[in-house]
Amino acid sequence: MKTQIRTLLVFLVIALLSCHKQESSQPVTEYGRSAPSKGSLKEKCASQIVLEQQIKENPARGQYLDKLEAATKNYKRSKAPAEPVKYIPVVVHVVLPNSNLVTADLIQSQLDVLNYDFNATNQELKGNPYLAGFMKENAGSLGVKFVLAQTVRVNTTVASFGTNDAVKMAARGGSDAVDPSTKLNIWVCDLGGIYLGYAQFPGGKEWADGVVLDYRSFGIGRKAGFPYYVDYALGRTATHEIGHWMNLRHIWGDRTCGTDYVDDTPVHDSPNFYCPEKGHLSLCGPNILEQWMNYMDYSDDACLYLFTRGQQFRMEAAAAESRAAYFYNSWP
Ligand SMILES: [Zn+2]
Repeated sequence: MKTQIRTLLVFLVIALLSCHKQESSQPVTEYGRSAPSKGSLKEKCASQIVLEQQIKENPARGQYLDKLEAATKNYKRSKAPAEPVKYIPVVVHVVLPNSNLVTADLIQSQLDVLNYDFNATNQELKGNPYLAGFMKENAGSLGVKFVLAQTVRVNTTVASFGTNDAVKMAARGGSDAVDPSTKLNIWVCDLGGIYLGYAQFPGGKEWADGVVLDYRSFGIGRKAGFPYYVDYALGRTATHEIGHWMNLRHIWGDRTCGTDYVDDTPVHDSPNFYCPEKGHLSLCGPNILEQWMNYMDYSDDACLYLFTRGQQFRMEAAAAESRAAYFYNSWP
């Protein structure tokens, strides 16, 4: 009898272990979704990680953003409905062993995408897209035009950069910012396959202000001879990162069911990857449709096509309170 029980126990333990092994070898997240199988590209964006590091090193950084948050909350919108478009001059630094890989056409394709996305004139919104119950009429439109002010090309000896801002320093194989307090600097480089990009939120070090993008997710790169990330080759990484530069947070609030401080976006339990199905629900409460097409989610480029009006208002507050010097009435 004893032997039988022991045999049974051993069997049970083996069964449990093998069951557990099977579970842990499945690519499942804590929410039971399939995890992305894009290798190390699981984390698309390092903006929040970089910000948290900055706050750790310098608490005043966090205090600045707290003050901006209060100002954003109290911001009284005085914008006239037909206010003329504002211009944002952009400096693009191409920092690659062969900087000519990123052509002028590719740079222009990226600016075109930004001009569509930030003004709700992107192709997707012209049709009848799935918006998880959000009204198309309430899509955010910032009334801005991104214009190329300058291209800086650096044939660097650095094979790949990280998120430590070395790409923003000529002395470290990068390229020094040009007028970073009045122009949006974008660095295009090899980010080593870990991240697609990262942005600096308002109020950081002036020389480091701007956005860094991996060249494989820059512009509309779907053409022969150019290496690109298939799922991220429609220029939406720049849209996402410039959203951060304008003080937008990730739609899931960087924690389980966190807040993005925007009233008209739904609460998300975590980032979405690929192109989720219509009707995809949040696990944060009953019947909450996740807005996976929001630029501040992690879905594939083809499935990102919306800023909400609440996000537009938040960006307008950031423009007025922190980034006014980047918005010009005319250009050049
Ligand atoms: Zn991000």
